[in-house]
Amino acid sequence: MQFCRAQSLDAALEYLAEWGADGCLLAGGTDVMVRYNKSEIAPGAIIHIEGIEPLSLITTHGRTTIGALNTHRGLAGDAAIAARHPAMASAARLVGGWQTQAVGTLGGNICNASPAADLAPPLLVADAHVTLASMRGERRLPLDEFFIDRRVTARRADELLTTIDLEPLPEGSAEVYLKLGRRGAMDVAIAGLAVRLSLQEDGSVGAARVAVCSLAATPRRVPEAEALLLGARLEDDALAAAGQALAGAVSPIDDARGTASYRRRVLPGLLARAARQCGEEARQ
Ligand SMILES: Cc1cc2nc3c(=O)[nH]c(=O)nc-3n(C[C@H](O)[C@H](O)[C@H](O)COP(=O)(O)OP(=O)(O)OC[C@H]3O[C@@H](n4cnc5c(N)ncnc54)[C@H](O)[C@@H]3O)c2cc1C
Repeated sequence: MQFCRAQSLDAALEYLAEWGADGCLLAGGTDVMVRYNKSEIAPGAIIHIEGIEPLSLITTHGRTTIGALNTHRGLAGDAAIAARHPAMASAARLVGGWQTQAVGTLGGNICNASPAADLAPPLLVADAHVTLASMRGERRLPLDEFFIDRRVTARRADELLTTIDLEPLPEGSAEVYLKLGRRGAMDVAIAGLAVRLSLQEDGSVGAARVAVCSLAATPRRVPEAEALLLGARLEDDALAAAGQALAGAVSPIDDARGTASYRRRVLPGLLARAARQCGEEARQ
């Protein structure tokens, strides 16, 4: 196995063009090294990209553009992220323990394509798009088209995820991320839920976005729940109906962390809590 240290984006793209599917990008390594040590992957080359500084930038002109190498710790402590993307800041604080947060990156969280990726639901409710670069050029696509299946993405073998751009929280809106896990922040989610709501002057919901992780093969938006929240007041009946729609729309599995039926059962309560919290914050 060859170890390639890329100090620039061009160098990384050249390595990727040379090695193709036999090359494995290494950012923070919190997924790659675990899988390598378990012999789940055996790449011909590891391409280390941690030193490519432009991929750690965050810009806030219109949409927020976040370089793929931003770490969870960096995102959780960034003032612009806290103001524009509070659900993402919360999710970043809930990834693993502080060691994982210190080196694990946003790009790695997305490209790893785990169904339990904590950063994915807050990104999905912010209409995130990813930009992928290769020696052939760049392309940009919506995050929900990037996730194809468990551990399968639309990334081609010679592509590197450079940035994620997303819509900041509009005026009169609020968003939250709630994670249900056995040991709080130390464990991957049994269920993760992001909600972004806008309220109208009469108190009804003017815009609703709902996204989940650990409840299907990929993190995903849930339009069935969004449709029931739209135009509703945040009262018990409407929230219960949206919660039932959410529980019916997802396709969880039984695993060591929880059963599918447990995951479905907790969802209405989780949605009601998230929506009420959004309502209170949006009114402020
Ligand atoms: C103890 C522990 C606890 C964890 N807890 C959580 C948790 O609670 N929630 C959670 O969501 N995750 C958790 N994880 C998983 C992991 O930490 C995160 O997914 C992290 O964000 C991965 O980032 P990384 O930089 O370490 O990725 P890496 O391991 O470097 O890479 C992950 C994958 O993405 C690819 N990749 C990385 N960067 C790019 C790029 N820019 N372009 C294209 N491909 C790229 C790699 O080739 C690899 O396939 C945990 C991991 C550990 C070890």
